[in-house]
Amino acid sequence: MKFNTSLLHGGVSRNEKNGATLPPVYQSSAFEQDSAEKLEKIFENKAPGYCYTRVGNPTVSAFETRITQLEGGVATVAAASGMAALSYAFLNILQTGDEIVTSASLYGGTIDLFRDLEAFGITAKYVENNNWEQIEGSITDKTKVIFAETIGNPRLDVTDIKRLAELAHSHGIPLIIDNTAATAFLVKPLLLGADIVVNSSSKYINGSSNSISGVLTDGGKFKWNADKHPGMRDYIKYGPMAYTVKLRSGLFRNLGACLSPQNAFLNLIGLETMGLRLERECSNAIELARWLDENYEDITVNFPGLPKSSFYETARKQFEWYFGAILTIRVGSRERAFKVINGLKLAYKLSNIGDTRTLVIHPSSTISIHSSQKQKEDAGVFDDLIRISVGIEDIEDLKEDFAQALEKSKQ
Ligand SMILES: *Cc1c(COP(=O)(O)O)cnc(C)c1O
Repeated sequence: MKFNTSLLHGGVSRNEKNGATLPPVYQSSAFEQDSAEKLEKIFENKAPGYCYTRVGNPTVSAFETRITQLEGGVATVAAASGMAALSYAFLNILQTGDEIVTSASLYGGTIDLFRDLEAFGITAKYVENNNWEQIEGSITDKTKVIFAETIGNPRLDVTDIKRLAELAHSHGIPLIIDNTAATAFLVKPLLLGADIVVNSSSKYINGSSNSISGVLTDGGKFKWNADKHPGMRDYIKYGPMAYTVKLRSGLFRNLGACLSPQNAFLNLIGLETMGLRLERECSNAIELARWLDENYEDITVNFPGLPKSSFYETARKQFEWYFGAILTIRVGSRERAFKVINGLKLAYKLSNIGDTRTLVIHPSSTISIHSSQKQKEDAGVFDDLIRISVGIEDIEDLKEDFAQALEKSKQ
């Protein structure tokens, strides 16, 4: 099945009761079984079935199954938010003393999470994306995971996933990729060698900003070694499912950041149109980026789809056709950035990406506010920078909105 067909027909049983075309919302906290024996087996993970929604729920499972087949992995765990999914992805394999080698160009929340992990003796070492010498030089015996975003949010640098995976694996280290800003529509990181892919499904997967959620998908190919990841010792026997079995039988149920069945249902609906939305959002983004670049000499446009971008070649090689639907502009000063944002009539001023509507934000004073000056610079956050998440509106209306806001901001 090709991309859009699989979003509608892949991985979901057609045998729903009464011929329903969508999996029902199982809005139930607990599930009864026929006997005490059956319940015991389910608790021991020796029989399939549901017992309690924090551990598993049929609507959530339907969403997970569809994401697994979309990403080309072996299993998916859905969580209450993208941050919960990221926390699970790391904590499942890290312990005190371990180091993460990570791209410095990250979503602000993830930088904050890495700071929180310091209290547990886990250290993040920041490197520049695709700077192979620096990455190689940062790896020590304590490095237990390598991490990057496919398209750094908001720097919009593009990670060469295949090369990073090869480098990680040559050291026996797994690669985790946050694919939120790129999505499976642009690239499937597991197929390029990443081991775990994380998505904030609050964004493009849901698509209409009606629920917060996150997913992590296991590629099932990493060769776990108990000397390097002692926590995996009891799970290596599960082969390709080792990582997921460990997560599901431990941290996932015990930290308890599960996805609600209602939100899983909304995501399943959103997922159906992800390809269509992204096609439009990505082509709108190319058009808006080119138009701003050609018509406004006093602003700088950053978009991996512009040939002048230093990330263009990697993007071309890895994404084939589209370049994502996020661009940033630098308008000269923080004052002017605020004026442009305030002057926009269509675009929403809010902290989110991946909506059907066009969204703008001033990252420096919002999503990156807890970052140091150095962290901001490394993450491509400047005082005069505006991030634009392009929606599905008619492009002429978007151009008109930006034209009038840019014009007014000069006054
Ligand atoms: C939004 C976002 C997250 C966090 O996801 P939430 O669902 O808001 O918790 C993580 N990474 C990236 C790249 C994001 O854009």
